[in-house]
Amino acid sequence: MLVAMKSTTPSPTSESLVTSPVAGIHHVTAVASDPRRNIAFYSGVLGLRLVKKTVNFDDPSAYHLYYGDASGTPGSIVTFFYWPDFSGRGRVGAGQTTALSFSAPAGSLGAWSKRLQEKGVASQHAIRFGEEVLTLRDPDGILVELVAVSDDTRSGWTGGDVPTEMALRGLHTAVLTVRDATPTEALLTKDMGYRLVRREGNRARFEAGPGGSGRLTDVLADASAPNGTGGVGTIHHIAWRVADDESQQRMQARLMAAGFMVSPMRDRQYFRSIYYRERGGILFEIATDVPGFAVDEPAATLGQALKLPPQFESARTEIEHALPSLT
Ligand code: ZN
Repeated sequence: MLVAMKSTTPSPTSESLVTSPVAGIHHVTAVASDPRRNIAFYSGVLGLRLVKKTVNFDDPSAYHLYYGDASGTPGSIVTFFYWPDFSGRGRVGAGQTTALSFSAPAGSLGAWSKRLQEKGVASQHAIRFGEEVLTLRDPDGILVELVAVSDDTRSGWTGGDVPTEMALRGLHTAVLTVRDATPTEALLTKDMGYRLVRREGNRARFEAGPGGSGRLTDVLADASAPNGTGGVGTIHHIAWRVADDESQQRMQARLMAAGFMVSPMRDRQYFRSIYYRERGGILFEIATDVPGFAVDEPAATLGQALKLPPQFESARTEIEHALPSLT
């Protein structure tokens, strides 16, 4: 099944070419209450680019907004569904992805702390796996981490008011909270191509492919965590990236052979997706790098116009009328 590119002394790079079924994080999707407040935080405070303004394909009466770097590169993307507060807050706990962890330039956390303070956002410093971390909460209470990373070559979006030397470069790691880490870790290492990097307390860090920011995943074992429930203030799912449909089909077959119930492929307009629940209860998605966000609007003006998938285009007037104003 594997291509014949075996090396007797595998370097991380050659290993990633040969055996890493997923190439890292594609995106993380969370549930927020108010899209305007959400834009004010993720674009206005954190300086991410709004790269797509669309609707929830399962409920076009609500927005689905995507943030990322200049072009919405896989690994830089966070997306939000919007449920009004009265429809219920979720509970953060076991069986969920529990943080949005971003890569910040080394030496920038002091400036970030100052910027956050000026914007009325409290933050705390921590050290984890030898990395300097600033932790804060988004307006709905979702845990956000800014991690100082010295070797991340990705470029952040600088079209807002966050200077280049501070610009966030995408997701750094994923944080998966489960009561029992064993089955989750087995899935990551046996079927998804992750390797253990190190352990610290109840947290284990894994990396895929050549490793580094965007290709890391932390499994947090917390036997006393309450069961997470979906809703406002929680992360809905995490998507892992594969290059194309063929890689996704291979991954689908591999997961099904390992006993997972995997959804049929769904076309998400900007990528194609399959979904499955890992044994700790976390919803996982495998998303393709193709076709990307410039498939239905120019790269220069990403995120400005409301984009609808073809099946909703005929109902555009009604959909636009029902959506809340973002200004
Ligand atoms: Zn998704």
